[in-house]
Amino acid sequence: MDQMNELFGSAVFEDSVQKVRLPDGIYKQLRKTKEEGTPLTREVADVVANAMKDWAVENGVTHFTHWFQPMTGVTAEKHDSFIQPDGIDSVIMEFSGKELIKGEPDASSFPSGGLRSTFEARGYTAWDPTSNAFIKDGILCIPTVFCSYTGEALDKKTPLMRSMEALSNSAVRVLHLIGETDVNRVITTVGPEQEYFLIDRKVALKRKDITYTGRTLFGTPAPKGQELDDHYFGVVKRRVSEYMKDLDEELWKLGILAKTKHNEVAPAQHELAPIFTQANIATDHNQLTMEIMKKVAERHGMKCLLYEKPFEGINGSGKHNNWSISTDKGENLLKPGKTPHDNPRFLLFLSAVIAAVDEYQDLLRSSVATAGNDHRLGANEAPPAIISVFIGDDLKEVLDSIEEDSDFENRCNEVMNSGIDAVPDFAKDTTDRNRTSPFAFTGNKFEFRMPGSALSISGPNFIINTAVAEILDQFAVRLEKSSNPKCEIYNIVRDTMKEHKRIIFNGNNYSDEWVAEAERRGLCNLKSTPEALPAFVTEKSIDLFVKHGILTRDEMLSRYEINLENYSKAINIEAKTMLEMARRDISPAVAKYVKELSDTVVSKRQMGGSVSCVFEEKMIRLLSELELRLFETVEALDSSVQEALAMEEGLEQAVFYNEKVLKDMAEVREVADQMEIYTPEEYWPFPTYGDLLFSI
Ligand code: ADP
Ligand code: MG
Repeated sequence: MDQMNELFGSAVFEDSVQKVRLPDGIYKQLRKTKEEGTPLTREVADVVANAMKDWAVENGVTHFTHWFQPMTGVTAEKHDSFIQPDGIDSVIMEFSGKELIKGEPDASSFPSGGLRSTFEARGYTAWDPTSNAFIKDGILCIPTVFCSYTGEALDKKTPLMRSMEALSNSAVRVLHLIGETDVNRVITTVGPEQEYFLIDRKVALKRKDITYTGRTLFGTPAPKGQELDDHYFGVVKRRVSEYMKDLDEELWKLGILAKTKHNEVAPAQHELAPIFTQANIATDHNQLTMEIMKKVAERHGMKCLLYEKPFEGINGSGKHNNWSISTDKGENLLKPGKTPHDNPRFLLFLSAVIAAVDEYQDLLRSSVATAGNDHRLGANEAPPAIISVFIGDDLKEVLDSIEEDSDFENRCNEVMNSGIDAVPDFAKDTTDRNRTSPFAFTGNKFEFRMPGSALSISGPNFIINTAVAEILDQFAVRLEKSSNPKCEIYNIVRDTMKEHKRIIFNGNNYSDEWVAEAERRGLCNLKSTPEALPAFVTEKSIDLFVKHGILTRDEMLSRYEINLENYSKAINIEAKTMLEMARRDISPAVAKYVKELSDTVVSKRQMGGSVSCVFEEKMIRLLSELELRLFETVEALDSSVQEALAMEEGLEQAVFYNEKVLKDMAEVREVADQMEIYTPEEYWPFPTYGDLLFSI
């Protein structure tokens, strides 16, 4: 236990270290900043910086970096050493408050979607004191936000931080109106469950598609897939369990609350879940988790795949985003208590989330739209592209009874036992598990299951936060006008149900009936990224984010542009990889085998008339036909790619990649996969699905 205490957070400049190393007054001011968001003075920053540096140097560190999350979706860092000439002939280690608070990385090559022209390439990073500095690979990393010279957000974290603030303000406003005046702040809490694949590194390196794109672009299914359900929660193989142990330790050192690990449904697929924490820290920690998953895999001779759908025919990987809000007193606002019908506060916040998801369903869908995730959503293993909310039958009953009780207003002062006595004590376990819902209430939190495994969770969370903040503000206006706010809560819940109950669906989201039913209800079904992304920049969305101070119109338009570009670029790389593999690997390999077959025919003929060459001739004919078809489909794909590249970047180009290039790619793959079936292993130019999935 002591050992664990020593290990956990040992690479973090955490609260206990700050307390010991900082003068009492400074420590208190820093804490106040962390808890209440009060700005830090330069004097305080100087002292903190110095203490941070001393601690880092004692741990063998010579460099620091502002660690940030640009729109590439991965983290960025640029290392500076602490050294300063001491004026004689030596150096001293120095780190000032100025360097801690603000950095100026050369930002010209990060995507900015037109916000920052390259000639004024200055971007600023600003310290986020709520997320602790840490040591990674011998570098002191300081979590920061990243913005342009003119103050526009250029990263994933800024809108998230702003949305947490907005949600806190709106929630506090509502809480005060219903009599909970002792609450000063409301915190967004998030716990992201991370799925991933592990394959042997040597095997993986033989696949150009995995190397360049993170997924397989060719491959027939292995004889065994996930049909026996023998991998899910199965015994973890030795190599994998050694990896998991090492990974846990690395994460614990960084203060990341890695908690649960197990095998997932598909062969070679696994999951890691942390204990939840406040949203910006959870986001930092998830980015670190992904990075360290890959690094530790390398050390163990494996490759960790975070791509959403690395293999066709078996499950892909998601990242379930568990989300809730709690007060600064530590009370979870989505905790129903034993009798949710007597818990107006819970019902109010539950209604707010339901309304927010319905009202901004398209926006929420757009937050998880990437080229990789398109292969997952709507396949029978992940939620469909249609957003709906699961709340379980018991809660549905509570909400229905409020909605249907027309005489409620007159009786509401008698409190809440009217007609709903049938509802039993409400315990977490009575929300039966619905594994197919994209947005499920799971006892005391919502679980958004659409994000893909590689996604930064910042996007979905800042959208949920802002949408809920908006609805809470609307509730607040009603509560302000009411002479009896307690009673008004039930009116609000009832009206919300009337208006938004179409979003509630407790059934099987994978069924075809649901798709038809959802259409009848008027819910969005945005199947692909180019269909989903425009929702981000509708006037309604722009109004929402501008109103709550999350993003400006320009910032939103730039993000939209970046996301479209990322989509098109991802498919472009996949298409080019496919062309190369088909032309330079598959085609020559099959030609070689055909030559071998032809040589056999010649030799057999020389033996005289009686030996049959029918098999060889059939194979030669079949493979020659496939060779020609491969050539033709490859040429067609190539010309589509050229056409796409000639187009202006933007929505039209993304649509073309989706509708034309992806279709051409599927045709190339179909032919090549046929060839794989008939080509002997020794001729096939790269490892098969079986080799990859059962490589460990
Ligand atoms: P389930 O059994 O529904 O999957 P778990 O208790 O295993 O729930 O939790 C799954 C994830 O949800 C974990 O990462 C957990 O920390 C997180 N979680 C639990 N409570 C909350 C909360 N109040 N806010 C955010 N995330 C939470
Ligand atoms: Mg879960």
